[in-house]
Amino acid sequence: MKNNVYSLTLPKLEDFFVARSENKAKAKILYSLLYKDKIASFSEIDIFGLRTIKMLEEELSLDELVLLEKRESKDAAKLLFRLFDGNSIETVLMRHDYGNGLCVSTQAGCNMGCVFCESGINKKIRNLEAHEMVLQILYAEKALNTSVSHITLMGIGEPLDNYDNVMKFIDIIGCQRGLDIAARHVTISTCGLIPQIEMLKNRETHSNLALSLHAPNDEIRGALMPINKVYGVKKLMEAVKSYSLVKNKKTTIEYILLSGINDSDECAKELCGLLNGIKCYVNLIPCNETSLGFKRPEKERIDNFYRILLDNGKRATIRREFGSGLKAACGQLRGGFIDKLKYSGGEQ
Ligand code: SAH
Repeated sequence: MKNNVYSLTLPKLEDFFVARSENKAKAKILYSLLYKDKIASFSEIDIFGLRTIKMLEEELSLDELVLLEKRESKDAAKLLFRLFDGNSIETVLMRHDYGNGLCVSTQAGCNMGCVFCESGINKKIRNLEAHEMVLQILYAEKALNTSVSHITLMGIGEPLDNYDNVMKFIDIIGCQRGLDIAARHVTISTCGLIPQIEMLKNRETHSNLALSLHAPNDEIRGALMPINKVYGVKKLMEAVKSYSLVKNKKTTIEYILLSGINDSDECAKELCGLLNGIKCYVNLIPCNETSLGFKRPEKERIDNFYRILLDNGKRATIRREFGSGLKAACGQLRGGFIDKLKYSGGEQ
């Protein structure tokens, strides 16, 4: 199969031209044409000779996502894409006052099995290639006629379970000749794979880390997130602490509030103790009610939990609701879409 041009970092594209006895400078020009001028085919390039264009057409592919569905509200938009092999993924754009954030999927399906998350219902089918993540940005910008300034890897999948492709993606979009979205504008959200957090820590790039913690102890977390049986809370917090120290960054601690499960005052207090000495802020996420049956706590309970964090000197926010009318929670669009296809006679 042909290599996709959006899977090549600039140095790799330079190697590609050099290996074919072409001028290496063409790589920089091609990068600008792809990411700044957003050409849709190699034949649009008028500054390369015909021989080069033919070579590019023969050896590299350009285009591989199909936009299946687009839903927009004032502050958010959701896109559903089909990949070349028929799998579908979703991408969500969130409009902030500081710019547009895009929530990118990293896998088709997910193997982490968190009991409240719909993404894992179908298990991991495969990792996304780097170009399938890059193309989510380019297609979203085109479909919504906007530009993206921040990336969160919080769509379908566990980004650190697809480490190499995700790192390649970060390098490609960080290139100043290309999309120029610096790693410090990228947030990697993980359910807590310690070896990969360590690898990330030793990388030159300075991406932000978000940890889906969701519970203050092994007992509750273990019941919600199977990964906790491999990497328990204590070791995980040590890894996060070390990441924050080395990168000199605050880690975002994500905490879904699930009614009657992890939303008590005791849980809030235990969470405060756990976070002592860690540079972080907590993002409280009242759970999105899905087919999985978990309930969002009453407003008063959410406010109580939040208040306990603040009273104990923690920085915390209650997540702003984006596109709740759009079913924007992780995995929900795809779930809903597949249901619809089944209803009308199966996924084609
Ligand atoms: N696998 C990564 C990233 C994808 S999930 C991770 O675990 O962080 C992105 C975020 O959405 C995670 O914090 C996840 O726990 C959360 N999430 C999943 N289902 C949810 C639901 N029903 N309501 C609210 N947040 C949910």
